[in-house]
Amino acid sequence: MPVYPSAHPLVRCKLTALRRVEAEPRLFRELVRQLSWLLACEALADASLVDLPIETPLAPMLGSDLADSIGLVPILRAGLSMAEGILDLLPLAQVWHLGMYRDHASLQPVAYYNRLPRPPTFDLALILDPMLATGGSAVAAVRLLRESGIRRIKYIGLVAAPEGLARVASEYPELPIHVAAVDDRLNEHGYIVPGLGDAGDRQFLTVP
Ligand code: URA
Repeated sequence: MPVYPSAHPLVRCKLTALRRVEAEPRLFRELVRQLSWLLACEALADASLVDLPIETPLAPMLGSDLADSIGLVPILRAGLSMAEGILDLLPLAQVWHLGMYRDHASLQPVAYYNRLPRPPTFDLALILDPMLATGGSAVAAVRLLRESGIRRIKYIGLVAAPEGLARVASEYPELPIHVAAVDDRLNEHGYIVPGLGDAGDRQFLTVP
């Protein structure tokens, strides 16, 4: 299964800061943005390029541009700061929000907002969701993208649980998954341990 936990030292340090219970919402959001930026670099390390003729102050030359247009698909609401971070890196990426929440009793994802373009208006989709816990939202997001005709999809998250990775692999074994870390397990409430708590609540100071 193509799962890529980052080995980058900056990712390790920033994830450590993010996990700390003391990280308040402004710091938490900033770290999510920075981590997402770094992970997007890793996710796009195999991107194809086309030649781009440019002029420097001294001479014309052939530069490079991304061959593919990119669509960011943040899962509301926890993926919002991830999209902000990656937009700093890719200001011309399209952003298509997917609204999904996890039913606390069944732990199943419920889709409540989907305006994905049909036919697709970009080549490569990056699903952005910080916590790959049970894998339910990731599977549902890939299914919705596929139904919209989007074929090339990667997933960028911050922390994944082995249980969620196994669930995604059982349905979409070819999906590339880029995360900052793979943690130990899920607890009985579906939270990742040691994890970082509820990524939405910690960004937006909503206390359940
Ligand atoms: N969603 C979160 O925000 N945190 C978890 O640990 C699991 C799901």
